[in-house]
Amino acid sequence: MRFADVVGNEHVKEVLRRAADRDRVPHAWMFTGPDGVGKRTMALAFLSYLVCRDRRDGDSCGVCRSCNQMTAGAFADLQVLSPEKGYIKLEPLKESMPRLFYPALTGPWKCLLIDDAHTLTNEAANAALKTLEEPPSMVMFVLVTPSPDLLPRTVLSRCFEVPFGPLANDEVVAFLESRGRTGSDAWSAASLSRGSPGRALQFLDSPVLAQRTEFLTSFLDLAESDADPRLKFADGVGSSKDETADLMLLVESIARDVLRASAGLSDDMLSNRDLAYAIRAFADRVGPDRAVDMATAWLDWDATRRFVPNVRTAMDRLLQALPNPPPTVRG
Ligand SMILES: [Zn+2]
Repeated sequence: MRFADVVGNEHVKEVLRRAADRDRVPHAWMFTGPDGVGKRTMALAFLSYLVCRDRRDGDSCGVCRSCNQMTAGAFADLQVLSPEKGYIKLEPLKESMPRLFYPALTGPWKCLLIDDAHTLTNEAANAALKTLEEPPSMVMFVLVTPSPDLLPRTVLSRCFEVPFGPLANDEVVAFLESRGRTGSDAWSAASLSRGSPGRALQFLDSPVLAQRTEFLTSFLDLAESDADPRLKFADGVGSSKDETADLMLLVESIARDVLRASAGLSDDMLSNRDLAYAIRAFADRVGPDRAVDMATAWLDWDATRRFVPNVRTAMDRLLQALPNPPPTVRG
């Protein structure tokens, strides 16, 4: 894995390169930022750079023995921990930590990559902390997490944090193209992914993408509907199982688009630009204040979803921001 294989976050590559080139590398790093933006891939590129025997042009060579082992996931001095059933428990930590004290087999670094580090249990985090506080020489920790606030402060303070940002839309599209995913679906997935290539890939394989136009059109029709279809829509989203997260991304994209349309932004700025006409009609119907209410209802829920994962509640809040149904004409 080379830096050249990682799309976006060029500022991060620069920080990592410089640290490694100066040979005074902090021994513990924390890569933070949204899911799917390439934190783990960057960690592997960084570790490859550290152990490469023939660095060139600010990147690992990709062909030496160490690089080959890294690419094959078989570098003897790299251990990777990731959650099992939602947690990284004490047991794997107890196995990994002593190995960091053995001499390196290939070297020069011994590396421990902890993916989704926020899932460390307290006992596991404490076990890691002991070694973080007094690390053996030539040991490199990289902790990767979208939620550093869930880790003990004592662990955070031992790590050098590098924040990752979302990618530009073009970068996500370029990433999808590099995986052979092209066409209008790829474009839609990229624009719905909020700058996350990983999420865009997931989206491409989700049945939700195929239902996007139908789903969003039904949502946009709700501006003119009475209470029944609105309840039915909220029920439908609330009861869907596997695809809920993808559906919520669609809902979010449309809430943002309505806000953008009511603020007078051009069609190019919409995530669902193929539905621009209907989005503008919706924005005109609800007006700018309600467009802000809708986006705020979404953002409020999004900020607390870790604690209030109830999707139905989110939909209710969003739909409450819609104007009152037109009066029923009785004949
Ligand atoms: Zn190499």
